[in-house]
Amino acid sequence: MSSQRRPTRASLIWASAPATAAPPYRPRSRGESGSGAPAATPEPVTAESAKPTPATTEPSTQARGQRMRPRPPSRTAGADAAKRSARQPKRAVVPAAEPRQARDPSGQHPLTDRDGNARLQRYEERIKTAFDRIVPVLKRISALQHASDFERQAQSIARDALGFDLPEHMLADAWVTQLDLRRLFAWCVFETYRRMTDDFFANDPLGGHEIRDFDRFLQDCGFHQLDVTPCADGRLAHAISYVLRLPCGAVRRKPYAGGLFDVENTVSKWGEVELGRFREGIPNTADAPTRYLKSVIYHYSSVDPHHQGCAAHGSDDAAAAQGALDRLLAFRQSVENGFCCGASVALLLIGLDTDTDAIRVHVPDGEGHMDLTQSVDALKVHAITRDLEPTAARARVAELVKAHAPASADPGMLRLVARLIENNLSQIDYVRQVHGGHYADVGHAEHFMGVGIGFEEIQLRNLTYFAYLYTVEEGAADLDVGRKIFSGLNVSRGLPIPIVIRFDYHGGVPGARERAVTRCRRLDAALAGRFADLADRGLLHRLLVVRDSDAGAGIEVVGCSLTAPTAGGH
Ligand SMILES: [Zn+2]
Repeated sequence: MSSQRRPTRASLIWASAPATAAPPYRPRSRGESGSGAPAATPEPVTAESAKPTPATTEPSTQARGQRMRPRPPSRTAGADAAKRSARQPKRAVVPAAEPRQARDPSGQHPLTDRDGNARLQRYEERIKTAFDRIVPVLKRISALQHASDFERQAQSIARDALGFDLPEHMLADAWVTQLDLRRLFAWCVFETYRRMTDDFFANDPLGGHEIRDFDRFLQDCGFHQLDVTPCADGRLAHAISYVLRLPCGAVRRKPYAGGLFDVENTVSKWGEVELGRFREGIPNTADAPTRYLKSVIYHYSSVDPHHQGCAAHGSDDAAAAQGALDRLLAFRQSVENGFCCGASVALLLIGLDTDTDAIRVHVPDGEGHMDLTQSVDALKVHAITRDLEPTAARARVAELVKAHAPASADPGMLRLVARLIENNLSQIDYVRQVHGGHYADVGHAEHFMGVGIGFEEIQLRNLTYFAYLYTVEEGAADLDVGRKIFSGLNVSRGLPIPIVIRFDYHGGVPGARERAVTRCRRLDAALAGRFADLADRGLLHRLLVVRDSDAGAGIEVVGCSLTAPTAGGH
């Protein structure tokens, strides 16, 4: 039996491309009999089977090959293959006597954080349900709008189903004119967002501000700041709190469409962090041998790889990975060119399957080089280690990460990657248990757009489409992608696009709040102008909010298109 569990190095390596192949998931309740023998996810046994097992929706090898870019010029396929071959004999093998336990009847991995999964599920369901209820409730209210006691009935329904009253002035004229359901819809979305945000900052429902342990671990691994850019796609909005299971308060998150982050802005942030170490010893003193770690999460779809990958890269997985890698390298080059004394940063590239939430990590070698054709796949690590006892499973995860990383990989980086993979095992089980193996909403299903700077409270998948920007001009591409997404989600159903315009500021800086409010209003006017065709038809509404990020408090609403006499009239 143990030989059937024997992993090979190639089993975790995408032999020709960072493609979307993943072992097909079969729910164990349906896939296993009482004899309990067959594994739901077949594991490689021979060298031939060490190639990724194609999922049922996987494109053919030929089709995928046509979509892949050439390998990076610095490494040749032959050389990599030779290295892999040379290392193969050393690759980990499960000892025959390794302790095992009977497979968990639920099929979950022994390292899965069940309490954490239950907490995250409660939070996801509570918030998503609050947004999902809006349309059905408004349909019920719409049907009553000419009843004699309409206002009382409408408020009663709203209070019971949504938990808040509706604005009286929006109901008062329904008997003489038509109830303006577009305005009412936008108002309900904004109110639900406001309540969710207040809860997030007041109650820390995801424990995202318990950062001490992770900060210590990160520094032990050799890094003093983790800065992550996921794609702005709403299907990655939960990447920190759910997919990677990291405390959101300990990670700088800056989403950009396609993972193509702003290099200058990131260099500026790097400088800010380094200055903080030098002047204040935060998070550690400047003489500590730790580095700033910049990571990008690109994404792909195993269920519908040709249509539901990264929109910014035309669902071309190779282009998404290459684009993210190029941006990371540009950032490192900028730091090295701009600062002397050996200044540099660490880089990490992560891929995410937005259907299963499984990650694959491209572990860098000792010089920071990453190979797009090599990665550690959490889905396969899950399959290989799920029958072990927790202690053995954890050791095996670390072993697998090391075995599938370049030989010169930094030990601290290996520890961090092993932690990320282990954390992701919980999320893989979460998606299996809660969402039946992969999400029902394979594509976009966001409820509103978030535009500006901030949004720490958005930690749920497919809740928000982000456009991080200071001005409409610099974020035009992201805004247009957002408009396209919401044209399908909302406008096609006659519903408006709700946009939350947000700027966080540092309360300790004189005048910062006023400048943030001014930015909100300027952006609001520019948005109303750019999308005037929608605004004029009542199909675009904006909520303007600011937040003092130094105070740790909630948001402050400073304006709303629903209270203005005309769109953009601030
Ligand atoms: Zn994307």
